[in-house]
Amino acid sequence: MIEYLFWLLLPVAAASGWFAARSSFKKQQSGTGSDCPQKGYFKGLNYILNEQPDKAIEVFVEMVQVDSETVETHLALGNLFRKRGEVDRAIRIHQNLIARPTLNVSQRAHALVELGQDYMSAGLLDRAENIFCELVENSRYKALALRYLKDIYQSEKEWDNAIKVLRRMSDLPRTVRNKTIAQYYCELAEQARETGDVPLVKRHLKQAIGVDPQCARASMLQGELEWESGNVKNALRCYERFISQSPELSDEVIERVYDCHQQLNSVKKFLADLRRLPEAAVGPVTRRVGLRLHSNTDDEKSYRDAIYAALEDHPSLSLTENWLELLSESKEIDSPAELHKLLSVITRLADEDEGYRCQHCGYVAKSLHWLCPSCKHWDSTIPINAIGNP
Ligand SMILES: [Zn+2]
Repeated sequence: MIEYLFWLLLPVAAASGWFAARSSFKKQQSGTGSDCPQKGYFKGLNYILNEQPDKAIEVFVEMVQVDSETVETHLALGNLFRKRGEVDRAIRIHQNLIARPTLNVSQRAHALVELGQDYMSAGLLDRAENIFCELVENSRYKALALRYLKDIYQSEKEWDNAIKVLRRMSDLPRTVRNKTIAQYYCELAEQARETGDVPLVKRHLKQAIGVDPQCARASMLQGELEWESGNVKNALRCYERFISQSPELSDEVIERVYDCHQQLNSVKKFLADLRRLPEAAVGPVTRRVGLRLHSNTDDEKSYRDAIYAALEDHPSLSLTENWLELLSESKEIDSPAELHKLLSVITRLADEDEGYRCQHCGYVAKSLHWLCPSCKHWDSTIPINAIGNP
């Protein structure tokens, strides 16, 4: 914490010190020598070193008032306020700076960048948007402004605008850009789906696949659309594409895939496909569906034994829960009370073990998020069960 504050305050101290020294030097040259600003600088630095950041800020604010032409000090101070969470003060400092007619073009742009970030921190996204739209025209800040605009449109769910901005972000690798644009089209498709506009949903999904043919989310949405329209064959094709693109997410669709095969009388092919799935990616739902089909459906004992055999190969809480459940329902057990106790513990453990983890930041959620709520990465979460712990 102390170290953090020190590094936070150091730029202000340095800037203030430089300006203080310069102004002192100028004044000495012009014969009005005074060492007050320098004193203030060292006083402020002393407060930082003594872990008194509030007093240090007071001193630096005073110094800014002493020499109101120190643009850099204003900027550093405003930045400091924002980082401390005092956004209102940061906004006042930067607005005051921008209002000065003496500011040159580059200083004004810098102050605008800071003010835009203040507005972002304060949640005033409309105002931030106006500022960054203006800054896009400035070659020095174009890339930065586009990044902020992307964040704004993403959090406001203005996907059309987000797509336009992302297409202009030439500093991003093409594949990264296309993957994200495909996710935006999927968001548009989901929005259209809510309003029941099927042709529009189809168009957006086509656009998603157009920019990123490997977009698994688009395949899944297409599958759902086809299934809802009763086109079982097409639905199955989309789901199969989804599984080949994201085998670790097979649990999301496997029961529907089974339904498709049942309607098409091709359960045998389904079983063969299941065997070909990469072992590490198979989640508990997929494994259970496979085991159920492999064992005699009417014979609970054979299903239970199949689960136990699978457990020996791939220990998993979810499967253990299944196995205990079947055992507790079995007539072969005389007094299942103790078993029920164990089952309730395992159920709780299995519950904790379920969910999705972002591969980028480690964020854990109960449901599948295409956009990580924590680090804002797209398509980065996979089931915890599928991460080296089948
Ligand atoms: Zn994340």
